[in-house]
Amino acid sequence: MSNIVNTLLNDNLVNLKPYESARRLFAGGQDWLNANESPFANEYSIDSERFNRYPACQPEAVTAAYADYAGVDISELLVTRGADEGIELLIRTFCTPGEDNILICPPTYGMYAISAETCNVGVKKVPLKPDFALDTQAICAQNDVNLVFICAPNNPTGTTVDPADLEQILTHFADSALVVVDEAYIEFDKDNTRAGQLTRYPNLVILRTLSKAFALAGLRCGFTLANRPVIQALLKVIAPYPLAEPVAQIAEQALSVAGRTKVELQVETINRHKHWLQEQIAALPGFSITGDTRANFVLFHSIHNKALMAYLVEHGMLIRDQSKQHNLEGCLRATVGNEAQNQRLISLINDFLQQTGVSA
Ligand SMILES: *Cc1c(COP(=O)(O)O)cnc(C)c1O
Repeated sequence: MSNIVNTLLNDNLVNLKPYESARRLFAGGQDWLNANESPFANEYSIDSERFNRYPACQPEAVTAAYADYAGVDISELLVTRGADEGIELLIRTFCTPGEDNILICPPTYGMYAISAETCNVGVKKVPLKPDFALDTQAICAQNDVNLVFICAPNNPTGTTVDPADLEQILTHFADSALVVVDEAYIEFDKDNTRAGQLTRYPNLVILRTLSKAFALAGLRCGFTLANRPVIQALLKVIAPYPLAEPVAQIAEQALSVAGRTKVELQVETINRHKHWLQEQIAALPGFSITGDTRANFVLFHSIHNKALMAYLVEHGMLIRDQSKQHNLEGCLRATVGNEAQNQRLISLINDFLQQTGVSA
């Protein structure tokens, strides 16, 4: 790095590496089952009439439609550039750099820690128990945290959380921390949303996204649901134009009655394919399903994980290695793709097993 950069670079950024997104890890490949994207690509139309104008900060057609979808009041919601921006806004709004901490429960989504580190906010870790349940006692023993991130269904374990655990945590931190429940995959486990509990818990925050079930990862559109005072605080920090006009137009179409119905059908299809994939993987010699399958991916353990991963990459089949995550040694995560992709994944694994002399 140049001298001027070395001199000026913030101390907390010196050892930081950019997030290894699925897109950054592998440029090639033909089957993308590594980022929990939807296999469906739906069509939208764009009206360029207003492109000469700055967009609204919180376009009402989008916020009203999502509030209706989520069953909350429009004042209890913020639309952001993906759920990732929601994570960063929460940290920038509620944590003082160099002083405050967030709490995460690994193995979990990587962006909570990365966002905190880029903001020079501390990260306290209370790992999930061996069965991936929250360690509620250990979480409640942490007294110096401003935000508690809980992902449900959790990425990458596909597990949800025990409602009693969550209630205990919300109550314990009632006067000291916001509890952020990341519901990025909630459409695949829709009976377990906590959106209905906002009225009961002033410190509850819920993250949502159009990137997964809504099949719009390329759009960058997410939502933060919370009580009004929390939303008002986030509005002090959010950029004046977080959502590009074409994004708002497409989000509005996705959230129409027809768009929502389409997503419901696609979720049913993905869930059906997920169970097929899960059964196929579970039946492979030396393979076992890890965690649960409440999202749109299957996490599994294989004694051959390293060699298998290399074999799949070599054949353009990209899944995600989770071995480096806490308690997930030997684990790989495969996003549920379309039927052909899921079948190709299973047949490639079978080919690999044959080559290595393990017969199925
Ligand atoms: C994919 C994902 C997100 C990011 O959503 P974007 O809206 O694409 O930024 C957030 N949380 C979890 C758990 C995810 O898996």
